[in-house]
Parts: sequence; structure tokens; C-alpha cells
Amino acid sequence: MSKRDYYEVLGVSKNATADEIKKAYRKKAIQYHPDKNPDNAEAEEMFKEAAQAYEVLSNSDKRARYDQYGHAGVGGASGGGGFGNMEDIFSQFGDIFGGHFGFGGFGGGGRSRGRQVNKGSNLRIKVKLSLQEIAKGADKKLKVVKYIECDACSGSGAEGNHAHHTCDTCRGTGQVTRVQNTILGAMQTSSPCPTCGGEGKVITHKCKKCSGEGIVRGEDIIEVRIPAGVAEGMQMSVSGQGNAARRGGINGDLLVVIQEEEHPELVRDGNDLIYSLYISFSQAAIGDQVEVPTVDGRVKIRIEPGTQPGKILRLRGKGIPDVNGYSTGDLLVNINVWVPKKLSKEEKKMLEKLNEGENFKPSPDKNDKSVFERMRSFFE
Ligand SMILES: [Zn+2]
Ligand SMILES: [Zn+2]
Repeated sequence: MSKRDYYEVLGVSKNATADEIKKAYRKKAIQYHPDKNPDNAEAEEMFKEAAQAYEVLSNSDKRARYDQYGHAGVGGASGGGGFGNMEDIFSQFGDIFGGHFGFGGFGGGGRSRGRQVNKGSNLRIKVKLSLQEIAKGADKKLKVVKYIECDACSGSGAEGNHAHHTCDTCRGTGQVTRVQNTILGAMQTSSPCPTCGGEGKVITHKCKKCSGEGIVRGEDIIEVRIPAGVAEGMQMSVSGQGNAARRGGINGDLLVVIQEEEHPELVRDGNDLIYSLYISFSQAAIGDQVEVPTVDGRVKIRIEPGTQPGKILRLRGKGIPDVNGYSTGDLLVNINVWVPKKLSKEEKKMLEKLNEGENFKPSPDKNDKSVFERMRSFFE
């Protein structure tokens, strides 16, 4: 299932201000509000979609991640993130209706600020990527062992439809208020209701499968789109894919930590890649065409006649794309000349003969930058 663009959902431009986003969300929320559209599943979907978009775009961190990585940066390719149910939306964004819209009481009974919503804990999972995957970006299916909603009770923790009732102690508000007389006068304090633990309702018949918790141990396959250019230790947050919350609260997030697999031949240096190429003395002297590895398979490069060891060839754009998408690194081919360790008598004689020639006397070119580049690399 592909998700719609969040800016499109709210009908605002990519440069919209925080205020414009808030206004746009309020408009959508009122339009699709469940009180106005009773039993309208489509409106409910639109309402949830708008809330999800607002959840991301109203938070500057999440918005920046979304702008950079799209849905992958904030919720994963498979969607799923965001809100488990309507209660979550109201508990988080209830304020946006500001009371004077008259939508304070969704589902009747007067919403209380004090009602506690359970929050599932965040989960961390490591994902190993090859250099090729890092260069291209990758869709990963991650098997995550975690708490999931109990399917027997749909996460309510209650057996059957009438298995819970409004808490008598707090009358469903989740809070108990006490008035104490102190030297400063009467002071009112509120605390979570001890009977229902702040949830506002009490379960009379607990679900047998989950013992009333609403969650069970299980596993889930989560699809995550990893953008190109990520690096070891980077972390992506997939909202709502962590542990499910007890009794229908808000799910935790899944934090995906990137691990880089070592490449057998290429070494990464930021967005550049480095390859150590060994050529023979003859290849260096006569010139040749040789193959070097890249993240896209092997490519042919030309060795100019008279190439000195330590010369660095730069293959532009053959490195790793920047994670922000602005540029792509290069592949630096560091040329080494292989000196034979064993020689036959015949070879030795030939080399001795060659060594007498004028062309074989070392005469380093002081203007050859590669000599200095090589020196510098010793000290870096
Ligand atoms: Zn259950
Ligand atoms: Zn209570």
C-alpha cells in the first residue's frame, strides 16, 4: 500500500509555514470529524490520514526527515505507522479543536485531559547493508519480535463486548481529585485513579489469551525503505512499529540502526570509495587497460604510459550518493606498482641490462601532484 504525500493530504505546499499546516489540518479534521460523519468509514480513513500527516509535518524534526527521506524517514514503506485508533488522535491532537468548535467530546462522556493513554515501548533493530545496497538504497523486510495487539480481543484486553465498564472511582476520567487544607488555603491535587490505573475503565472479564493486557508476544514483518547514502550507526525511526501498547494505546516506534558490511575490495571514506590497484612494472611503463571494481560492477580504466606508483585516479560519481541527495562521491583508484619478489636468472639478466639504460634512472617530477598527494596521505 503506497501512502499519499503528506503535503498533498493536507493540501498545502512544501514551503507551508507551521501555522498554515495547523490551519489546513484543522480544516480537514473538522471536515472528516467522526461526529459529523457517523459510521462513515471513508471519512474515518481521511481523518486518520490527515492526523498522520499532521503528526509528521507539525514536528520540525519529523518534517525534516520526511522532506529528506519521504515516508521511509518517518514511517516505513509499508505504512502502518501513525495511529492505532481514533482515541490516539484525540489524545494527541485534541487541542487543535480548541474547544470552541464544539468537538470536545468525541464518543460522548466528556474527554478528560487526565485520562492516561498507554504507550508501547520503542524497539531497536540493527540492519546490515552491503556497500551496493548503501549505494542504491534498499527495501528491507525486517522480522521483528515484539508485542503485538491481541487478536482475540482486538487489543482491548476484555472478553466479549460488555466485559468492561466505566470506572466507578473516577467515573471514567482516569483521575481522582483531592482537596487538602494547607496553610496556603485549600489546594486541589489530582492523581491517576488507583482503581483503573488512570485508564478510566475497568475490565470485568479479562481476555483469556492476553490475560487482559491487550497485547501478546508475536512477530511482524516490517518493510523499510533505506535511502541511499546511509552510514554505519545512522538511525531511522519507523513510527508506530515498535511494541504495541497495553489495551489499545499508542504503539512505540521501531528504530532501525544501520550497519555497514565490509566490502572485499572497496574502502569507504565518507561518500568517496578507495580502491588500491596493483599493476606490474611493465604495465606502468608501457600503459594498459585494466578493470577496477565499483558498486556497479567492474569498469575498465586506462593506465597511461609512464604512470608512477602513488598516482590517484579519480572516477567522478562512482562513489556513494550523499544521503541528502545533493551530490555523489567519487571512486579514487590508488595505483601501486608491484615489484616482483622472485626472479629467474634470465629475468634478472634482462633487468640488469635495462637498469643500465638512461631511461631507468629515477628522476621524480617535482610538478607531479601525485607525488605530493601520496606524501600527504602518509600523514593524514
Ligand atoms: Zn486479548
Ligand atoms: Zn478509575
